[in-house]
Amino acid sequence: MDYQKVIEEVYQEVVEENPRGKVANYIPELARVNADQFGIALVDLKGQVYGVGDYLTPFSIQSISKVHTLTMVFHVFKSKLWSRVNVEPSGNPFNSIAQLEYEKGIPRNPFINAGALVISDALCGKFESPTRQIQDFINEISGNTCVSVNHEVKKSEQNHAERNTALAYFLKAYKNFDNDIAEVLDVYFSHCAMEMSCVDLARSFSFLANDGYSIFAEREIVSESHARRINALMLTCGFYDESGEFAFRVGLPGKSGVGGGVAAVMPHKFSIAVWSPELNEKGNSVKAVKALELLTDKLEFSLF
Ligand code: GLU
Repeated sequence: MDYQKVIEEVYQEVVEENPRGKVANYIPELARVNADQFGIALVDLKGQVYGVGDYLTPFSIQSISKVHTLTMVFHVFKSKLWSRVNVEPSGNPFNSIAQLEYEKGIPRNPFINAGALVISDALCGKFESPTRQIQDFINEISGNTCVSVNHEVKKSEQNHAERNTALAYFLKAYKNFDNDIAEVLDVYFSHCAMEMSCVDLARSFSFLANDGYSIFAEREIVSESHARRINALMLTCGFYDESGEFAFRVGLPGKSGVGGGVAAVMPHKFSIAVWSPELNEKGNSVKAVKALELLTDKLEFSLF
């Protein structure tokens, strides 16, 4: 399979069609990003990289980091985790508070903000320096690429933290939060503010295409059964309240972030990251989703 040719064709077609959206503007640091950037990196199971466009430019991975933190916690807490977080699509915006009340403090899934805060809380209970550990973990599974926290983005998130702080207090009220709220929010904003290029990101998802084994870290990151479950969660919950639409149009497990990135995997074949900052009204990158739709059409395979 000539992946390079396919992603170049996809890139060209998307550039020609030029679907537009709006850059995330809930914090000034993201609103300032150049909207025209667009890159694709595909990494096969041997570690071969295929790239086009701005695929080497670091960008804010935002919610995509929730897959990395879930992986760290999944491994450590195994099935105990699922008494604190559910595994159902939310059908609501990622930062919904109302749903948390209906569900009595148990977030619908680990990828909405409330769920990711529970995961960050679990990491704070486990590690001395959780942010350092997350960074080291992402570096390891992406082949030591020096992933860093963008402190301007993090500061901006902290200056606009009302909703996430409210979610944390809500979780605490339902006794689903063990650690200091400010400390957990600091960890959460740090991992959302990490920056990676499409190549780093695709590499860091490689273990999910490879039954849990990372060829970059040269070790099993999670068991095969855990990898399957993380993929199932990405397929059902990875795209805010548009996960059904993404499964319908693309058919790959993946996760998006409001920085405009999408990371996805085709199990037993490849991992891929696509980035372009303009989002649709559900918070998913218009060009990235279009590119992945074209890709699975051209390759004539998806999970289905
Ligand atoms: N840092 C964002 C927030 O908590 C996450 C945005 C995203 O979903 O990518 O509001």
